[in-house]
Amino acid sequence: MGLGRDELTELFAGLGEPRYRADQVFRGLYERRLRSFDEMTDLPKALRERLAAETEVSVLEVESKFVSIDGTRRYLMRTRDGYPVETVFIPNESRDTICFSSQSGCPLKCDFCLTAKLGLLRNLTAGEIIEQIIVVLNDVYGIGGETPHGTNLVAMGEGEPFLNFENLIKALEIMADEKGLHIVPGRVTVSTAGIVPKIYEFAKLERRPNLAISLSAASDPLRDRLMPINRKWPIEDLMAAAREFEKTLKRGERFTFEYVLLGGVNDSDRQAEELADLIERHGLRKVKINLIPHNPAEQLDYRPSDPEQVRRFKEILESRGISAYVRTPRGRDIYAACGQLAAKHEPNLVQIGA
Ligand code: SF4
Repeated sequence: MGLGRDELTELFAGLGEPRYRADQVFRGLYERRLRSFDEMTDLPKALRERLAAETEVSVLEVESKFVSIDGTRRYLMRTRDGYPVETVFIPNESRDTICFSSQSGCPLKCDFCLTAKLGLLRNLTAGEIIEQIIVVLNDVYGIGGETPHGTNLVAMGEGEPFLNFENLIKALEIMADEKGLHIVPGRVTVSTAGIVPKIYEFAKLERRPNLAISLSAASDPLRDRLMPINRKWPIEDLMAAAREFEKTLKRGERFTFEYVLLGGVNDSDRQAEELADLIERHGLRKVKINLIPHNPAEQLDYRPSDPEQVRRFKEILESRGISAYVRTPRGRDIYAACGQLAAKHEPNLVQIGA
């Protein structure tokens, strides 16, 4: 799991096997979404046994699955060396979304996020990133089953994707292959807390996914407090990178600023104006703002904004010509919502199939 075409070709050459075996296994892994060699019955039995002895197909084990009253599913998986990995399936009438993790835990210390409490456990491999998607697709649509209207992927689970850049890009390239999972970059969004040099690098990629930048404050003193990564790359540096990224967008494409609304902290009328000023000052036009109501948790000292204030915040941005959307929280009851992933295993959660 996690090997691309070239690496599989090399592997089979090393085993003294013909080249087409690499294609068969590529399809077995990523098109048929099989997680064991036993199921790849188009391979000779002796080869299957040899592969099972010498290599590894599945690199994750599903520990638990939690299902929300709104249909959202949270999967708590483990790497072979025991680290937690969480993935969320969010059903939607028009298109389903899978929110996956790029790291186990997260080294950034965003003050409103439960994942921050885990710290960084380790980067996930390309195989561990891909297998999350395979596990979810198989669970929802059956092993190798067709997705009814395609699936969007968002790298917004545990971790900062740009701190695991190479593995993330490798995984996305493998997943884009039309003879595999065939999830094209246009259906993928990578969300960063603001690792500025990597935004420039990302902008240069030929076939790159969509970008979301988590902003959550329009002034340095507040952003320093909410998202300490801002002390390293303050707002002006982040905006300069956003401007560069914007230049690479094609007609009709946009990127996103995410803004977690915290009651009484960053949600005032003045702060909405400040955000609009910032966007205007930097001449950003191909941008939309996703307003994310804070998802409360016991260990976090914040409360969600008043719904009336959320509406006002949105209206102020729109009155300044900026597109703004309020994201509906999903899966709060099972700790699956934004900022809630912390490998929770509460006994009061409905757990299906350990
Ligand atoms: S919001 Fe994202 S980047 Fe920040 S601590 Fe949480 S997982 Fe890490």
